Amino acid sequence: MTSTPLPVAVLGAAGRMGREACRAVEDAADLELVASIGRGDDLEAVAEAGAQVVVDLTVPSAAKGNVLWAIEHGMHAVVGTTGWDEQSLGEVRSALAGAPGLGVLIAPNFAIGAVLAMRFAEIAARYYESAEIVELHHPAKVDAPSGTARHTAGAIARGRAAAGLGPVPDATEQDPDGARGAVVDGIHVHAVRLRGLVAHEEVLFGGTGEQFTLRHDSFDRVSFMPGVLLGIREVSRHPGLTVGLDGYMDLG
Ligand code: NAP
Repeated sequence: MTSTPLPVAVLGAAGRMGREACRAVEDAADLELVASIGRGDDLEAVAEAGAQVVVDLTVPSAAKGNVLWAIEHGMHAVVGTTGWDEQSLGEVRSALAGAPGLGVLIAPNFAIGAVLAMRFAEIAARYYESAEIVELHHPAKVDAPSGTARHTAGAIARGRAAAGLGPVPDATEQDPDGARGAVVDGIHVHAVRLRGLVAHEEVLFGGTGEQFTLRHDSFDRVSFMPGVLLGIREVSRHPGLTVGLDGYMDLG
């Protein structure tokens, strides 16, 4: 028995991620790409095309408005665009409260290995006195630190709190130029922007006489597509807001 393909719209379709996502949806037999939207295109085309899932791969300034629009029009949303803050997430939660049955996935990283690295980081964090994150990306990335690094820092902070660990040791007294990086949830995060890179992250753990490093590399945007497709296929089964693809994976 064959079932009707799920109608999907991609916003940001002309971008690097959007182009890849359009290809991945077109290549999937159980999905149908019904709308490809770029900057300046009318979102009404998405509703007219009958999309049930909207994939947002645009820019931080547009993503929230797109998601609220999708909810208002009864569509699930799968979001890869980064740069979300608590206030914007709260607005999405409020909108979803009035739309039972609709799901929104906001995934700071669709690469399965990066999701695993975040989970492993939370586990490792319990056992090491020191932890720092280095995220490395292409120079066209507009936000820093990366959404993945923020979420990894949050995971490390949770792991440390569960183990009763205090602040990471750091005797720095003077740092007028910010050489110690940003501090997210108590964890130092360093952002590198380098031509030739795509998306990479290193999580460094230090204990007396020991270092443990977790590293994930996305060499090509195609690495994000299994996660994007998983999100599209699963979003209707997860009503409400889910932040992080791990919410759709059975990681124990
Ligand atoms: P990009 O190449 O700059 O693509 C963004 C596209 O969105 C551009 O074509 C842009 O058009 C278009 N756009 C801007 N506003 C729009 C709107 N209101 N409606 C429709 N399209 C709009 O960026 P990218 O590398 O593809 O990344 C896109 C987003 O995904 C970024 O936030 C990035 O950080 C994130 N990202 C997430 C993951 C993940 O795994 N979650 C992985 C990689 C990247 P113009 O060129 O005309 O501005």
